[in-house]
Amino acid sequence: MEEKEYLRELFSLPRYALASRAIDLLERSIGSQIYLRGIIEVSNICVKNCSYCGIRRDRKDIYRYLIPKQVVLSLSKRLFKSGYHSVVLQAGDRRDDYFIEYINELILGIKRFSRRQMRIVLSLGEQDRDVYKLWRDSGADRYLLRIETSNPSLYSFLHPEEGGSGFEKRRACLLTLRELGYQVGTGVMIGLPGQDIDCLVEDVLFFKHIGAHMIGMGPYIPTEGTPLYRYVDEYDKEQVIDWSLKMVAVCRLVLGDVNIASTTALDILEPGLRLEGFRYGANVLMPDFTPKEWIKDYEIYDGKPESSADYCLKSLKDRIAWNDPGDPKPYGSYSFISGDQ
Ligand code: SF4
Repeated sequence: MEEKEYLRELFSLPRYALASRAIDLLERSIGSQIYLRGIIEVSNICVKNCSYCGIRRDRKDIYRYLIPKQVVLSLSKRLFKSGYHSVVLQAGDRRDDYFIEYINELILGIKRFSRRQMRIVLSLGEQDRDVYKLWRDSGADRYLLRIETSNPSLYSFLHPEEGGSGFEKRRACLLTLRELGYQVGTGVMIGLPGQDIDCLVEDVLFFKHIGAHMIGMGPYIPTEGTPLYRYVDEYDKEQVIDWSLKMVAVCRLVLGDVNIASTTALDILEPGLRLEGFRYGANVLMPDFTPKEWIKDYEIYDGKPESSADYCLKSLKDRIAWNDPGDPKPYGSYSFISGDQ
């Protein structure tokens, strides 16, 4: 059967049938451990203006911050000591020399105090190759860069300032990251205006062809004060819940032993849905440790809860892999892919 047809068929299955197949595969391939990554949202300053994002450049009504280096370092140290062996440094897109050096010093500092045991995951958007290389050479292990949608027209619609080249630029960044030896994570938003099952099928194939080691997807959450909010009346919450859980299961079934996160945005759709993600094949939990003083200004979407991971940690306690960086099993097993999808 042709791959796209097979994927469409998977999406047409009842959710619970998909879940049990995904869990069966997860347990047979990498086991049922849940890996942890502690997130620190180090800055909400961003040069981009994505039409769905609550911290886009044109939002003038939010306080912009950069957390002092020493605060990030001591927080990372506390996380490491408490059993988190992966830390995610996340921020908006920023390409100035000061920020590049700030990140570089954080990477060196974290590697120093953890004797290179703590994995550093960067989620810092599109950068030049030289910057990716500098951070990689300093010790960064992983990079998360969501493609947001693998459909180039939908991508342009979401990023009107970037013209037609935006999608290709982002895709090229992912390939550069692969080439530089990062463990690469990507993902999409689910429930975007104009998106359908065929778009999601293409998204899964994109993950496969790019050779992603990690997948971080989430439902699109309409956010007031953003241009995309004008489509809020078309938003079908039940369908977004259905598609979001099915995407986790289908990715598990198609991509096998990659790491898949169950993300915070699921809990906005419905409290408890993030935990549900682990019943569909997710195996990564990413609690947010941004200090209270700053977390309130990192609202990329409306209603972001401050500590929704706590109940997941309690419910999943027997499966949590403390002190384990949780490297993806296929890391290094892909050959570099430079051709067309
Ligand atoms: S989605 Fe990311 S790159 Fe786009 S505006 Fe928001 S923070 Fe910036």
